[in-house]
Amino acid sequence: MTFTCSICEEPSTEICVYCTKDACGNHLCVKCFRCSDCCECDAHQAKRTAN
Ligand SMILES: [Zn+2]
Ligand SMILES: [Zn+2]
Ligand SMILES: [Zn+2]
Repeated sequence: MTFTCSICEEPSTEICVYCTKDACGNHLCVKCFRCSDCCECDAHQAKRTAN
């Protein structure tokens, strides 16, 4: 069973745990398992910290 990445339309086998859209390996973060649209690990260096 294969999905299609919602970002680049490449075949994927994973989904974002946050928005549950399909995301390929290039667009799914290995740290938080969110897609590029939802990941807050590295993409947004200026993000606010919780404390
Ligand atoms: Zn992709
Ligand atoms: Zn997502
Ligand atoms: Zn992430």
